[in-house]
Amino acid sequence: MNEYDSDKLTDVLVSNLNMKQTTKISDADILLLNTCSIREKAQEKVFHQLGRWKKLKKKRPEIMIAVGGCVASQEGKNIRTRAPEVDIIFGPQTIHRLPKMIRDVYSNSKTSVDISFPAIEKFDYLPSSKSQSPSAYVSIMEGCSKYCTFCVVPYTRGDEVSRSFDSILYEVKNLATNGTKEIILLGQNVNSYSSKNFNGENVKLSDLIRYISLIPGIDRIRYTTSHPIDFQDDLIEEYHNPILANNVHLPIQSGSDFILSKMKRKHTVLEYKNIIKKIREIRPDINVSSDFIVGYPGESDEDFNHTLNLVKNLEFSDAYSFIYSPRPGTPASIEHDDIGQDIKIDRLKKLQDLIKLQARRFSKNMIGTIQKVLVEGLSVKRSNEIFGRADNNKIINFIGDRNLIGKFVNVRVDELRINTLHGTYLERDGISK
Ligand code: SAH
Repeated sequence: MNEYDSDKLTDVLVSNLNMKQTTKISDADILLLNTCSIREKAQEKVFHQLGRWKKLKKKRPEIMIAVGGCVASQEGKNIRTRAPEVDIIFGPQTIHRLPKMIRDVYSNSKTSVDISFPAIEKFDYLPSSKSQSPSAYVSIMEGCSKYCTFCVVPYTRGDEVSRSFDSILYEVKNLATNGTKEIILLGQNVNSYSSKNFNGENVKLSDLIRYISLIPGIDRIRYTTSHPIDFQDDLIEEYHNPILANNVHLPIQSGSDFILSKMKRKHTVLEYKNIIKKIREIRPDINVSSDFIVGYPGESDEDFNHTLNLVKNLEFSDAYSFIYSPRPGTPASIEHDDIGQDIKIDRLKKLQDLIKLQARRFSKNMIGTIQKVLVEGLSVKRSNEIFGRADNNKIINFIGDRNLIGKFVNVRVDELRINTLHGTYLERDGISK
């Protein structure tokens, strides 16, 4: 989501202020920091970076510093208490107002702060995507109304707002015309998407997927992230649609019903297992991944063992796991935290070791199969290799020419080296479109 927002930030400044993007600090007139506050560590990085920029501003006082994203939204003008060198503070929902804020600061040399949530306005004022990449993000909703006790998102990005059905289809159509083949539908909770179509009928994420899969040129659709309580049968049934990619990322956070209820996730472990079971009935080899938090206040050894058992039982192909981090303003942050840091670290390691094992097992099972890969770019490590993603979202490296970038090709998976899959491009069976 932040990568998407950063791209939009660039689009806005290029098209409204005729600016050019540079990653060379010495060339820059404006330094922009797009921030994340989901965990404390991400937030602390912001202030370290601002510390480095402060020295720079001493030497070049004319340089402008703007901080956007969720730390800006959470801290507002307080950012200036710790970092008085900051000129502009804007939230994730006011990206489109940045050109005006920059002009204001240039004309009256005062600080500008706007961290409001002007609902859907952002979608209407952002320039349309100019992406020509094979795979493009398309934002379909913003914010979150779930208010899980640990999570800062509803406070930093506001409540859920769905973008209009027409404007999403219009953007996808344009992307397809420019050569995009894969669409990743983006939002904090994409499966709570709710809007009306051109006939005034209610539409959900499953409808959106169905309509987008009819747009010529679009051959693959992914979405991220979803929430178990909005995962209804219509979305599960959509897995019969071959254009919907063979992976599902569905965060569960814990395998203990007690902890899930404390987190206000509003579903049980059994309900989660049922969703996965139904999806696997349609797609037995689907890549199922999840998110976990360990060390939530009150998590006992027994609760944590329930998490390990759930992971053993479900076999994930990947997962992100984190030590619980108290976030300002969230209900969990005022709960008594009774678990020692060493126990949290130990639990995280146990969970990650287990998940790593399962991820390797999933990748190993791909050896010998032929995968339809969308080639995304040159491999970072070897100059004669390119890489792309299989339908199940796993990255595969293989020897191939750079002119295959942006095309679908068939690749036979040969081996798993450490954590990366390597394969062979099957030229004659290449199904480049
Ligand atoms: N919409 C998703 C959450 C996306 S945030 C959902 O509802 O499940 C990405 C992940 O960050 C979360 O799934 C969670 O595992 C982790 N996370 C969020 N808040 C956290 C916190 N306070 N401490 C540790 N991890 C957290």
